[in-house]
Amino acid sequence: MRIVRTVADLRAALQPVRGTGTVGLVPTMGALHEGHLELARRARAGTDLVVMSIFVNPTQFNDPSDLAAYPRDEARDVELAGSAGVDLVFAPDVAEIYPPGFTATVTLHGPIVEALEGAHRGVGHFQGVTTVVAKLFGMVSPDRAYFGQKDAQQVRVVQAMVADLNIPTEIVVVPTVREPDGLAMSSRNRRLSPFDRARAAHVSEALRAAELAAAGGISDAGSLVHAARKILHDNAIDVEYLELVDADTFRPVPVLVTGPAVLAVAVVIGGVRLIDNVVLRLAPHP
Ligand code: AMP
Repeated sequence: MRIVRTVADLRAALQPVRGTGTVGLVPTMGALHEGHLELARRARAGTDLVVMSIFVNPTQFNDPSDLAAYPRDEARDVELAGSAGVDLVFAPDVAEIYPPGFTATVTLHGPIVEALEGAHRGVGHFQGVTTVVAKLFGMVSPDRAYFGQKDAQQVRVVQAMVADLNIPTEIVVVPTVREPDGLAMSSRNRRLSPFDRARAAHVSEALRAAELAAAGGISDAGSLVHAARKILHDNAIDVEYLELVDADTFRPVPVLVTGPAVLAVAVVIGGVRLIDNVVLRLAPHP
């Protein structure tokens, strides 16, 4: 396992495998947990050389205090990455990614960047994501890149970006890894007090209630959202958004039809912003 901090060293380390083997990329912001490690294990199984980037990307944070409070623990991250089969950690400084004079941005348009996270964190959020992911793809030229379903809208945005820009990287989506009580793993969970950590389990419980309702034949968005909202409300959880959207377009869906829909939620618990989602489908006719 090697750590490189510059694009030049990254390219040199990847040179021997070019043309002979496949490269997998796992982009992260560090503070690794089982969700990230599952992405790394999938990359290990699916490609010959696994690169994990660890970079807390300032341009995707709309809230400076969130950026300042973002947990960082590189020594632990490197050890965990190695144990999950990562060959190369790319951990650049901010100036390596955004050198003086840097002006480029990658900007998508439409509901997939404007809905949900785009509406609440501002359109700059996904612009920050697409710009840094496009740069990482340019640096690593991965055959496959691994992203978590936990950030469902981010995955959709990255898929749209590689399609629109003809980037020859396959996007592999990895299911959300959860704690035993259902809470989606997140680097932000460690900022929850024990009291709030226990309350946070109600977020996935709420999504499961909607999932059960859909499995029971309920298909209108109002009822599905209500099933989830009731649990959040009963537990006094502040909801930023809770919406049922088409999994492809991220436009609101009034009723479940044939295609998959995403019930996506953002909450704030004890000052910590958490997101989660579940994919809902029309229940098959009995
Ligand atoms: P982050 O470090 O939060 O930017 O996340 C890096 C990658 O890990 C993203 O593709 C996330 O979607 C993914 N990820 C984060 N949490 C989870 C989780 N609980 N399960 C699966 N993937 C995750």
